[in-house]
Amino acid sequence: MRSLNVAVLSIATFAAPLAGQTPPQQTLIKAGRLVDGRSQQVLTNVGILVEGERIKAVGPLAQVQGQAPTARVIDLSQMTVLPGLIDAHTHLLLQGDVTSQEYEDQLLKQSIPYRAILAARNARLSLEHGFTAIRDVETEGAMYADVDVKLAVNRGEIPGPRIFASTRAMAPTGMYPIGTPNWEIDLPHGVQTVDGVDNARLAVREQVQHGADWIKYYSDRRYYFTPDSVLRSWVNFTDAEAKAIVDETHRLGRMAAAHAIGSDGIAAALRAGVNSIEHGDGLTDSLMDAMVKNNVYWVPTVSVGVHVMPRGGVWPALVALERRAFGRALRKGVKIAMGTDVGGFPWTESNQAKEFEY
Ligand SMILES: [Zn+2]
Repeated sequence: MRSLNVAVLSIATFAAPLAGQTPPQQTLIKAGRLVDGRSQQVLTNVGILVEGERIKAVGPLAQVQGQAPTARVIDLSQMTVLPGLIDAHTHLLLQGDVTSQEYEDQLLKQSIPYRAILAARNARLSLEHGFTAIRDVETEGAMYADVDVKLAVNRGEIPGPRIFASTRAMAPTGMYPIGTPNWEIDLPHGVQTVDGVDNARLAVREQVQHGADWIKYYSDRRYYFTPDSVLRSWVNFTDAEAKAIVDETHRLGRMAAAHAIGSDGIAAALRAGVNSIEHGDGLTDSLMDAMVKNNVYWVPTVSVGVHVMPRGGVWPALVALERRAFGRALRKGVKIAMGTDVGGFPWTESNQAKEFEY
């Protein structure tokens, strides 16, 4: 983003401690250009007056400056200022899993407290990247630690974005790592294992009880191309199980996200009534039509696609597949949310805003 000469306005950056009776500190931001997120136009020579943790005024620079002649000034007159960005697909508790070795090392050789410390660091990185809100779509074996990070941010203990937590996510027995041919040992799994409709409802209730804002489940695995270039997949849950997950989620006032890469997994998730399709590489025209009809969001996560190309197999082909799907989805009016899947690649490696370029 720096190369684009853009500054992202994160109020937390300017938050002054509210100490007793002293009036909140005033900060005047001189914005050369402002994208305010509301108007169609980019505004020029704008003043933004921040008082304590709140924006008090936005308008022509001279006018706003007149309201607060003694305010501390941050001069961004050579920059474009944006509101905080939203990353709708993150994993605070993961530090990259391009290889299965990287994934297993984290689940087997790092304690959840250690992983939570890194997650706190990641929350700060997200803010520094310009992202003031994230939807964190599961902890990959770190239980409910995302809710703890969220609590610490909300209580002002650590800097971080507004966090929507999904806690543990769900997959049926044997359909999510870590697996092993050694049946004598029980290894940790990256999800809550869920089998049967009663278990599905119980799992949703447990996760909501422990602070889940969203419920995430894995709709598919084992991706493959058919000769007509459609990306297919094996579906994880029976329709009855997936519908139980989504129905219970909605009953408890939450929304459901499905990891769905192949067309079979996407179709199954749409039958279950999910609110968002994560990745969605194998979207076909008829699936897009169903998404428009049912108001389902697509979160393409191109960034992770680029990072996991070294895996080989079907992965290198998926970025080009998504590029074609993206154009068709735009024309059809599919609602698209920006999400990166950061955590699937290291938080320290690139700014999530790279996703906009992709
Ligand atoms: Zn993900």
